[in-house]
Amino acid sequence: MKEIVVISGKGGTGKTSLTAALAYLADGEAVIADCDVDAADMHLLLSPDFSHDEDFYSGEVAHIDTDLCTSCGLCMEKCRFSAIHRVNEEYSVNEIDCEGCGYCARICPVNAITMNDQLAGKFYISTTRLDNTLVHARLGAGAENSGKLVAKVKKKARTLAEKESKDYVIADGSPGIGCPVISSLSGADYVVVVTEPSVSGMHDLKRVLELVHKFDIPASCIINKHDINPGMTNEIEDFLRSSNILHLCNIPYTASFTSAITKGITIMENGEDQMLVREAWRKIKEDINSK
Ligand code: SF4
Ligand code: SF4
Repeated sequence: MKEIVVISGKGGTGKTSLTAALAYLADGEAVIADCDVDAADMHLLLSPDFSHDEDFYSGEVAHIDTDLCTSCGLCMEKCRFSAIHRVNEEYSVNEIDCEGCGYCARICPVNAITMNDQLAGKFYISTTRLDNTLVHARLGAGAENSGKLVAKVKKKARTLAEKESKDYVIADGSPGIGCPVISSLSGADYVVVVTEPSVSGMHDLKRVLELVHKFDIPASCIINKHDINPGMTNEIEDFLRSSNILHLCNIPYTASFTSAITKGITIMENGEDQMLVREAWRKIKEDINSK
């Protein structure tokens, strides 16, 4: 079983649409993982059934037992993050602001403060309308530790792929080069980078490939919307050649690509034969299996 992660140095490149297209083409050979937990939207294209869900806890948050609290005000005075508030002599913790340092619990003279596990999001295992398994998650508003949640999504996807004897895990990684992307790349066998021909597209492609090289993972690249800037497309192609990165294909900007998103379907199902994407999937399988 091989794990393929689709990433992009920036948002808006069409990464999720292309990952969903690969999920369609995998036709039951893959478990799909949505690792873009900060802005998960694979479910909009694959209509999962959310059949199994679990709470995801990360870090701790302070809680004040108002029956025990004597309203001395010490915790509010000492909290460096201004997370404790007083309303009508009653003290409470703002969970968004609380950093979970535990100092207030240590200094409360009547032990009215406890540190509780913080609910940071939800984790789901679904069957999609394409009849493949999707592992996905949603981080709560203001919650941190998305890298930890990504690691959980990936681990579960790998376990299910092995259990179901699938050939691949296809993961939609997060945009950028931060902690969630690093988690997405950890343990991956192959990376597909989706870029677009713009100055920022080129800049972010280079940054994300530097990161991929540090993990020593084979990588390939799709240039999406290549026809909106042919000059920059040529520059990206030259860069890929000189860096020995497999160039999978150039995809033109078409109305059917964008309208698939609004219809909630993959680009493969939107009336236009996406031969280039089919060919890209063939090359990915050939390349990954030759390593
Ligand atoms: S330190 Fe303890 S007793 Fe004092 S206000 Fe805070 S919770 Fe209440
Ligand atoms: S745990 Fe730390 S951050 Fe949270 S309320 Fe207590 S002192 Fe403030």
